[in-house]
Amino acid sequence: MLSMQKTKYIFVMGGVMSGIGKGITTASIARILKDKGFFVSAIKIDPYINVDAGTMNPIEHGEVFVTDDGLESDQDLGNYERFLNENFSIDNYMTTGSVYLSVIQRERSMEYGGKCVEVVPHIPEEVIARIKKLERKTKADFILIEIGGTVGEYQNLLFLEAARMLKLRQVKDVLFVLVSYLPMPNSIGEMKTKPTQYAVRTLNSAGIQPDIIIARAGVPVDGPRKRKISIFCGVDEKDVISAPDIKSIYEVPVNFEKENLGNRILQKFGLVSQRSDGREWKKLVSNIKNPTREVKIGIVGKYFKTGDFTLMDSYISVIEAVKHASYFFKAKPEIEWLDSEKYEQDSQLLKELKKYNGIIVPGGFGSRGVEGKIKAIEYCRKNKIPFFGLCLGMQLATIEFARNVCNIKKANSTEFEPDCPEPVIDMMLEQKDLLKEKKYGGTMRLGAYKCYLKPQATISRKAYNAELISERHRHRYELNNKYRDALEKAGLVIAGINPEKDLVEIIELPHKLHPFFAAVQFHPEFQSKPLSPHPLFREFVRNGLKQKQQK
Ligand code: GLN
Repeated sequence: MLSMQKTKYIFVMGGVMSGIGKGITTASIARILKDKGFFVSAIKIDPYINVDAGTMNPIEHGEVFVTDDGLESDQDLGNYERFLNENFSIDNYMTTGSVYLSVIQRERSMEYGGKCVEVVPHIPEEVIARIKKLERKTKADFILIEIGGTVGEYQNLLFLEAARMLKLRQVKDVLFVLVSYLPMPNSIGEMKTKPTQYAVRTLNSAGIQPDIIIARAGVPVDGPRKRKISIFCGVDEKDVISAPDIKSIYEVPVNFEKENLGNRILQKFGLVSQRSDGREWKKLVSNIKNPTREVKIGIVGKYFKTGDFTLMDSYISVIEAVKHASYFFKAKPEIEWLDSEKYEQDSQLLKELKKYNGIIVPGGFGSRGVEGKIKAIEYCRKNKIPFFGLCLGMQLATIEFARNVCNIKKANSTEFEPDCPEPVIDMMLEQKDLLKEKKYGGTMRLGAYKCYLKPQATISRKAYNAELISERHRHRYELNNKYRDALEKAGLVIAGINPEKDLVEIIELPHKLHPFFAAVQFHPEFQSKPLSPHPLFREFVRNGLKQKQQK
């Protein structure tokens, strides 16, 4: 590993509109630099007042990603982890809320020595201090800093100010990348550069000139357009990088490299590539592009009112984890969303579950659609359809088993029925106390907890091939230990236990009864990465493919 004299900072900002792949761009640049032999870290800045993403409605914000240290962040941290094949922490994330909170707390403890504490410079200084903290901790060669939202938005001005101040102090160590969008209105039939020009002007008025422009568009950006952007935005033509829409996000680093982006960045810092090692990543992309078979996975969840798009966005990590496992087997994943509420109205519809090579019931909150999911789980259990339950999915699988196998007809979770007479899923005492005090933010069982896997030949023991594992959590309710004996006696396999709190982490059905029936209290999807698919997702997909062959 090269040890550079000084850490280099690359700020990634968005122009024209959000949602055009700033996170994927940041993650891809990070991947490229890693493959050139550098040590890379990244920070996501979210400009909202929420201290973290944990208290936000998924319809508002998409998925909440969870790190080992229990941070609830936005999904971009997941992108960074997936692209870099590394784990990140609270030091890789900040929001306006978290920045203000530290400044105010410091003021209250007189750490500013009686000074007047002001928005400028104290807020940008805190932002810079956090970047420097990550630098000290990681000793990274490069730190990428993605500023959420778009330039010109009132709420990201202070972050742009931090970027400008850092550049002023370390002029040779800072680079600015603008990810912009080139619309192609049907009526004109031509890609328009004007919005990008305005975005650059806005950035200029914040004292920042971009060094590189990533030109996002439906199709590749041609020469004349590149020249136009170059002239009007003041960047070299070679630094206008064409970034057309593509099928798989994992192809983005490969496409950027076709435009020589990595070397352009290094040249600007006066650096040379340490090695060229994109082999693993290229092999991944080749597997994605040349599948030899298909695997069809159904995800049974509830519909959010704003339509499919937001809904899928809320389960990015689950979807990516299925993809990683599929790519591992050179299979093309076909993932379909199945609305659980329709099963509540018409049980006949459950038959459609047979079309799939595997069914996932993912995490979730609240009672809507829950009975439909329980019906789907029952159907999978009885019809030997591979089933994988995640978090809420495990809780519902427990309820289903309690009701229909143990004959505890009134079994339920106190989340959906607070006075339930048979609370097989219940909240722990410490959680109840937190909620009484209205302490909602950052108080669930969050982040990494250990899980001891039973020595017996279970699905999980085989998948992990280990005795002690660690997985990430995000939930308030648990399998009620009072019912453990009854469940086990009726044949449920408790395959994993958290040793410190003696909580059930994994339930399964024995292989002789079902080809693949496993459900976990944690969120394995958060640890899955394209270069290292999660063992349980891998086994689930392997089984699905095997079943398909046997049909
Ligand atoms: N609602 C459940 C709980 O709080 C499950 C949470 C989840 O699936 N992440 O325990």
